[in-house]
Amino acid sequence: MLEVVTYGNEILEQKAEPVTEFDEQLAETIAQMFEAMKRDHGIGLAAPQVALKKRLFITDVEGDKRRVFINPEIIMTSPELSEYEEGCLSFPGLYFVVKRPASVTIQAYNEKGKPFTLDADGLLARVIQHEYDHLEGKLFIDRIPPMRRERALLHYRRLVKM
Ligand SMILES: [Zn+2]
Repeated sequence: MLEVVTYGNEILEQKAEPVTEFDEQLAETIAQMFEAMKRDHGIGLAAPQVALKKRLFITDVEGDKRRVFINPEIIMTSPELSEYEEGCLSFPGLYFVVKRPASVTIQAYNEKGKPFTLDADGLLARVIQHEYDHLEGKLFIDRIPPMRRERALLHYRRLVKM
């Protein structure tokens, strides 16, 4: 069973490595990631969040199908930005508004190794960017101004009594 790791685990701040084998083991990992995400009521989960240093994330956004993104590249972002309150399974209980491009175009492989391109906007675009950041070792607290970041971390440390 895969468990979600939380802030403080150094894998969350490391760059993940490309997936090279599209095999049974990968399919099993993906199935277990969906289970872990559901258990924690998430709408997106990246492999580093279950302590796997792989370029892979999944999404399950309301009104959309479940999606798997392997070795993804965000190839376009809209100049238009949007603000939305984000949470992260690796920071339980912490929510704050993050500004990001409103829409993105992403290229990735599915679990069978088939490449695809997707244009996303709304909540899906938001989740894609948040999860993609995890593959780069970047966290949502890195996306807000330093002052707000300090306050958010202080709040989080109090929440989890770190
Ligand atoms: Zn996250």
